[in-house]
Amino acid sequence: MGLVFLPLPETDEKRIRDAAVRFGDQHLRPHAIEDDENAHFRREAFNEMAKEKLTCLVVPEEFGGQGLSHLCYYGCLEEVARASGAMAVTAGVTNLVQGALTQFGTADQKEKYLKRLVTGEYLGAFSLSESASGSDAASLKTAARRVPGGYRITGTKMWCSTAGHADLYLLMARTAEDRTKGISSFLISRDTPGFRIGKMEKKLGLSASSLAELIFEDCFVPEDRRLGDEGQGLAVALSQLDGGRITIGAAGVGLAIEAIERVWRYYEEVRGEMPENVRYAAAYGYAECQAVRLLIRVAALEKDARRSITAIAAQAKLMGSDLAMRVTSQAIEWMGEAGYRREHEIERLFRDAKALQIVEGTNQIQRLVITREMERML
Ligand SMILES: Cc1cc2nc3c(=O)[nH]c(=O)nc-3n(C[C@H](O)[C@H](O)[C@H](O)COP(=O)(O)OP(=O)(O)OC[C@H]3O[C@@H](n4cnc5c(N)ncnc54)[C@H](O)[C@@H]3O)c2cc1C
Repeated sequence: MGLVFLPLPETDEKRIRDAAVRFGDQHLRPHAIEDDENAHFRREAFNEMAKEKLTCLVVPEEFGGQGLSHLCYYGCLEEVARASGAMAVTAGVTNLVQGALTQFGTADQKEKYLKRLVTGEYLGAFSLSESASGSDAASLKTAARRVPGGYRITGTKMWCSTAGHADLYLLMARTAEDRTKGISSFLISRDTPGFRIGKMEKKLGLSASSLAELIFEDCFVPEDRRLGDEGQGLAVALSQLDGGRITIGAAGVGLAIEAIERVWRYYEEVRGEMPENVRYAAAYGYAECQAVRLLIRVAALEKDARRSITAIAAQAKLMGSDLAMRVTSQAIEWMGEAGYRREHEIERLFRDAKALQIVEGTNQIQRLVITREMERML
């Protein structure tokens, strides 16, 4: 059965978690070491995930999605992260674009882009960060200048996950000087003239997903590619980031629980009796995973109820990613030398965990969000 949250009754959540486990076992785990070493994004595995409709769980049925709850979605990403943190992040990113299109897209944009993202024909990318505007996203400089029929975009975006493999890029660019209301969002196809992928980053973890620069050189984008109103771009981005932060928390739980289970099985199957201090430390780690799972559950229910999730999403992201970092680091020690070796894959979980503390807003920024909420309450 594995270290499950609860023996769940036969609900949609259980069905989706089970499907995600099967998908990971069949399409991700057999290639995990190889893809990590070769920094290889396995598009065929993503396509299979889309075919099983695991990449469009919360998209309304009218656009081809499953119209399920966020309990299903975050549960799915936790299970996928156990097999591949890189694929969980990839699925999370394409969901950000689906979410923005569902909320802000015109009927025509939904028909042209959302439906293709849902089937997996398109993989999405979300491009907000620039070299001098990561945490302070509103200071971005990439310019979208109005011209007859559309915009001309010039600038360089940084650290875009799935770049190079993605077919559709949700880009945030500046259309006016106002810091927050001067940003608009655009849907950019990979083959748009004037747009190209720049440097592909070599990184510590999540190696089986890409991270790259996007370069725009006087790139013409017709008006109907703007998503939302002019000036609404930051709102478009932020509308997705809260939900995205919960996915990062869920992925963190996935990495942590996977590390604990691997250590357990290693002692059972290879080494023999587990030292008592390791058993107790693993038990504590499992209890912490359960606590963060509960936090994510509450966040999922709040999201489904369409209430504000900014503060709880920040808590879920902070707790889930810090937990992943702490447990995967300790799990290496629990196994001794074997934990440091590639073949046991704990070191990959550890390298992947580090990214989760940075993506979708660093954990310092999450603390900032939480303190703002505390000030509001006190
Ligand atoms: C694996 C990976 C994938 C990513 N994928 C994407 C993607 O798909 N799309 C995208 O747009 N971006 C992506 N990013 C970028 C990511 O969102 C940024 O790296 C992140 O927001 C931090 O920005 P920065 O790197 O510029 O750090 P900085 O903002 O320069 O921060 C540096 C340090 O200062 C701290 N700091 C900054 N401001 C404050 C403050 N006000 N209060 C307290 N501390 C502060 C930070 O916490 C951090 O410790 C990705 C990054 C990684 C590592």
